[in-house]
Amino acid sequence: MRLLEFEGKDIFQGSEIRVPERSVIEEEKDLQKAIDDIGLPMVLKAQVPAGGRGKAGGIKIAETESEAEDAVGELLGTELKGHKVRCLLAEEKLDIEREMYCGIVGDDENAAPEIIISSEGGVDIESIAEESPEKIVRKRVDPMSGLRPYEARNLAKELGLERDAFRSFSDALFKLYGIFEAYDAKLSEINPLVETREGRFIAADSKIVIDDHSLFRHPEFEDKRTRYIENELERQGSEKGVNYVDLDGEIAVMANGAGLAMALMDLISKEGHAPAAFLDTGGGLSEQRMEDSLKLLFDKAERDEKVKAILVNIRFMISPPDAMVKGFMKAMEDRSDVDVPVVLVVRGRKSYVEKAKQLLEGTDINLYTDVEEGVKAAKEKITR
Ligand code: GDP
Ligand code: MN
Repeated sequence: MRLLEFEGKDIFQGSEIRVPERSVIEEEKDLQKAIDDIGLPMVLKAQVPAGGRGKAGGIKIAETESEAEDAVGELLGTELKGHKVRCLLAEEKLDIEREMYCGIVGDDENAAPEIIISSEGGVDIESIAEESPEKIVRKRVDPMSGLRPYEARNLAKELGLERDAFRSFSDALFKLYGIFEAYDAKLSEINPLVETREGRFIAADSKIVIDDHSLFRHPEFEDKRTRYIENELERQGSEKGVNYVDLDGEIAVMANGAGLAMALMDLISKEGHAPAAFLDTGGGLSEQRMEDSLKLLFDKAERDEKVKAILVNIRFMISPPDAMVKGFMKAMEDRSDVDVPVVLVVRGRKSYVEKAKQLLEGTDINLYTDVEEGVKAAKEKITR
C-alpha cells in the first residue's frame, strides 16, 4: 500500500525529518486557510499514489492568490496518472539550491533492506542510475542489526558532500531507515531531498510503500488500503478479501481458485461468449466468503444488464460443503429482485460432492457435476 505524499510527510515530521510548511486542500474553500497558514508563493501538489506528477502537470507553483485559485480549480477532481485527484497538498515554495536522493528499498532477493542514495535527485532514480551511476551509493543493510548512525555517516561521506550537507544528509538517512523499519515498508524514499538557498535540508517529496502483508500490524491504515481502487465492485471485493475483476461480457464467473476461474473463462470464450466478471473466492470456502462472493456477482448483475448468467465452479478438496452451501443459499435468498440465473458446478471429492447435492436439493440452483455441461447451461441462459 502506497501512502500519499502528505501522509508520508506527516510520518517524516513525526521522526523529525524536516518537511515544508503545508496544508491539505480537499475542497476549494480550504485554500484560504492554506494561504493564511503558509502564505504565498506556494506550491500546489496533486495527491495521487503515483510518481512523476511534476512532469504530468500535477504540480503547480502559484505566486498570487488568483494563481492559487486557478491551480486548485485545475487540479482538484481531475484525473492524474490514472487516479482521481481527491485532495491537494499546498506547501511553502522552496528556493531550491540542489536536489538529492535518499531511499531505502526492500531487496527481496537478498531478504535485506538496501540503501540507495545520490547527490543528484528530483528525477527518478532509474534515470540517475542510467545517466550518472557514479553519483549513486548503494549498501545492503543487515536487517538484524539495522543501520547504525556511523554507517549512515560513512555512506553519506561517500557522496562527497561538504561538511554541513553531509551531516544533514546522514541524519535524514538514519531517520528514514527508522521509518522503513517501524512501518514495515517495502520502500521509503525522499526524492528530492532538497537543500535550499538559505541552507535548509528539507524533504520536498515523500514516498512510503507499506508491505500489505504487514498491514495487520498497522490498523491505522486499514481503511485506506482500498481507497484507490476506482471500480466500486473491485473495491468491495478487495475489502472482502476476494479477487474480483470487473469485465464486460454476459456470464459472470466465480470459482474457488484463480486457475479454476480462468479455465472457466476459457471455456466460455470457446463457446463464443465473454465473461462479465472474474471472481476467485480463494481457499477455505467459509460461509461468509461464499455469501459475500455471490452477492458481489448479484450486485454486478443488477448494475449491468448485459449479465445473463452467473456460472460458479466449486471444487471440493479440503473443506466439506456445509459452510459453502449455507453461504451460497443465504446470498440466493437475499438477492431480492435480481433474477439472473445461477449455474453451479460442483466437483472434487466424491463424498463432498454427494453431500453438496443433497444439501442443494429442492432449490432453484441449476446444479451440475460436469463443467462443460455447466458452461452449456449458462450459455443457454444467454439466448433464452
Ligand atoms: P513527483 O514528480 O511526483 O516526484 O513530485 P515531487 O514532489 O518530487 O516534485 C517534482 C519536482 O517539482 C521536484 O523535483 C522539484 O523540482 C519541483 N518542486 C517540488 N516542490 C517544489 C518547491 O517547493 N519549489 C520548487 N521550486 N520546486 C519544487
Ligand atoms: Mn518526487
